[in-house]
Amino acid sequence: MGEFDLIKRYFSRPARRAVLGVGDDCALLAPTPGMQLAVSSDMLVEGRHFLSTVSPVLLGHKALAVNLSDLAACGAEPRAFMLSLALPRADEAWLAGFSQGLWALADTFGCELIGGDTTQGPLNISITVIGDVPTGQALLRSGAQVGDDIYVSGTLGDARVALEVFRGNMSVSESVFLSTRSRMEQPTPRIDLGVALRGLATSAADISDGFLGDLGHILQASQVGADIETALALPLLACASHLHLPQARQLELILSGGDDYELVFTAPAQCRAQVVAAGLASHTPITRIGAVREGQGVQLRDAAGQPMAHQFKSFDHFA
Ligand code: ADP
Ligand code: MG
Repeated sequence: MGEFDLIKRYFSRPARRAVLGVGDDCALLAPTPGMQLAVSSDMLVEGRHFLSTVSPVLLGHKALAVNLSDLAACGAEPRAFMLSLALPRADEAWLAGFSQGLWALADTFGCELIGGDTTQGPLNISITVIGDVPTGQALLRSGAQVGDDIYVSGTLGDARVALEVFRGNMSVSESVFLSTRSRMEQPTPRIDLGVALRGLATSAADISDGFLGDLGHILQASQVGADIETALALPLLACASHLHLPQARQLELILSGGDDYELVFTAPAQCRAQVVAAGLASHTPITRIGAVREGQGVQLRDAAGQPMAHQFKSFDHFA
């Protein structure tokens, strides 16, 4: 199968909202009046971001999910995406599975594939997503204010548990392995929550490299610090009740686990009821775990409000 047959068979569909999709030198999109485009890219490299053993269907899902997660963090709705693939060979079983996972998630969010690039090489998947958001309403990292509450969606740390099991560093029951593995391999982009937080959250980011690091990006951009109440954060590790881990280890998984693809966001303390309503409207669990303060960096606090020392770090490819 040649390059163009491959694209035609697995990655072409008639354009829907796009003016022109796959097949020409450029795709064409008509901007919607009153909206701004939100654009983001994420690359997945074998051995770095995924294990060679992962099922192609799940990989197709995850490659798009991690990109949609960035749109969610901006409060944007998905419109279209570009797919750039380096493949060692044209393996039809792999392509069928990968495209199946990709199309399923794309259809869930009405996000159409409008083009890309395909070359031979070590397996590498790069996606660029394009979304839109009403002009001026994108959620940025730079808007957190002193006194705001800090929230996270969903659960944190479970994906990391699965990774540690794969690495041979932890052992868990079969059922815990299945549930944590699905958190690692099938993240849920929080698009509906991002949309519900427009005009309400003062800042937001998605949690890809670990909560502390991604909250740290918000704090730096907003030039503020944060207090995190560990007693409020501990319940976020969904599998905790099935494991026998010291609290410090649970906290490490929650605060610097990575691969969660949840949202961390801030909102004014007087808007708590509206944040609860946004969670309900988007069918997304939300937990308040701290507050923005003056200064810089994250201070962890114990149940008595006392500062706690810690050395948790988030993932950095070059650290
Ligand atoms: P060019 O040589 O002009 O860069 P290509 O030959 O790379 O064009 O691609 C031909 C068409 O197929 C283009 O419309 C391109 O966007 C699309 N395409 C290439 N690879 C992919 C892919 N992996 N997924 C979707 N569309 C793709
Ligand atoms: Mg090309």
